[in-house]
Amino acid sequence: MKRIVVIGAGFAGLWSALGAARKLDELRIPSDQVEVVTVNASNYHSIRVRNYEKNLDETLVPLSDVLAPAGVNWIEGVVSSVNANKGNVTVSTQTGTKSLEYDRLVIAPGSKLVHPAIPGLAEHAFDVDTYEGARRLQQHMSALSSAPASAGRYTVVVVGAGLTGIEVAAELPSRLRSVVGDRERDVIRVILADRTAKIGQEMGGAQPVIELAMKELGVELMPNVELKTVDGGGVVLGNGGRIDAATVIWCGGMRANPLTEQLPVALDGLGRLPVDAFLRVKTVRGVFAAGDCARLLVDGEHPSVMSCQHSRPMGRYAGHNAVCDLLGLEMLPLRIDWYTTILDLGPWGAVYTEGWDRHLVSQGDQAKHIKQLINCERIYPPRTRVRDDILRAAAPIVQTPPAKRS
Ligand SMILES: Cc1cc2nc3c(=O)[nH]c(=O)nc-3n(C[C@H](O)[C@H](O)[C@H](O)COP(=O)(O)OP(=O)(O)OC[C@H]3O[C@@H](n4cnc5c(N)ncnc54)[C@H](O)[C@@H]3O)c2cc1C
Repeated sequence: MKRIVVIGAGFAGLWSALGAARKLDELRIPSDQVEVVTVNASNYHSIRVRNYEKNLDETLVPLSDVLAPAGVNWIEGVVSSVNANKGNVTVSTQTGTKSLEYDRLVIAPGSKLVHPAIPGLAEHAFDVDTYEGARRLQQHMSALSSAPASAGRYTVVVVGAGLTGIEVAAELPSRLRSVVGDRERDVIRVILADRTAKIGQEMGGAQPVIELAMKELGVELMPNVELKTVDGGGVVLGNGGRIDAATVIWCGGMRANPLTEQLPVALDGLGRLPVDAFLRVKTVRGVFAAGDCARLLVDGEHPSVMSCQHSRPMGRYAGHNAVCDLLGLEMLPLRIDWYTTILDLGPWGAVYTEGWDRHLVSQGDQAKHIKQLINCERIYPPRTRVRDDILRAAAPIVQTPPAKRS
């Protein structure tokens, strides 16, 4: 029996496994001839992009609902090492550690929030990088009103104004209002800080929209500041200024999962594995990579962005091509000719841009409706538990961009 192993069951890993299962189904190859097995740190597919939201109830999809009907096996465990020379990975589970041999491997363990050596950051700052991190923030915010009164009890400082920082900050005024008593609503303070000269300066045509939305939401923008230290009661900035805040949320950027460092290949500046158009890790035989841990030139020119927008098609193609490579069939190159950014701006709405220069397409309620369709429907696997639905969704095709208008 041959085996295709997939590391991770996020946007890239889940769709890699399903892409492989779909191709095997099409070729009528039974699972006792080629097994597809996914190793994932939890038993869930986490809709990670929704971790900035207040309500996390719908963000975990049980793997059993999706992988079982598709005939994919999975192991709840962590891959601690990859041996590309021997063709095996080491998996640690609750019952012990074992070696898993593969004939083809797809590496898709995603990315992690970067934690620079800022004193107090690791101990005191919250984040929304993972479901567990988002839950900790949720529990902390729910308990604020019963915490002892303090200067910054209802102040939140979000540090890092990339896409995640902006989305979190925009949600916070209404989240805080839902936890404070009526008499205390005027003590709410939300600050979005970054060392860049302008908040959202990478956002092209969306930048003025972000500024307007933040103003109307009551979020204070603080550009040009460095975070110096974090403690249990707030932050100290590079200019020596202190902000009392019971809640500090770190959104300082992502880096590929360090598992990539175990492959004998030069990584890019974000720690990603270079892959060709077939998602093969360059120069490493039998190994594919997809999602945040891989760098693909999506249109022959622009590198993939750490996003579910790119991770999902990368996954579908990696799984499909792993089967084709194993069976000596022609592989399919992945090319994506469009790029959009759709950023949630909380109760204000959202903003939708197109292209690598991010020109403005829509904003407010119209963009919000599209964002909700993406977050709540488009990026979910079918939840019908019907094999054909699930395999059909895993076809190696590039979806059209989200509708511009609702
Ligand atoms: C708050 C937030 C908002 C975002 N908003 C957007 C957005 O609006 N649009 C967009 O396109 N992108 C957005 N992103 C980025 C997007 O979530 C990621 O790019 C995407 O999740 C990457 O998919 P992935 O499969 O590579 O990694 P992940 O989705 O992170 O999945 C990786 C999986 O691998 C597992 N894993 C990790 N290490 C191991 C190991 N050693 N062994 C076994 N399993 C392992 C993890 O448990 C996880 O299940 C957002 C991210 C965050 C945090």
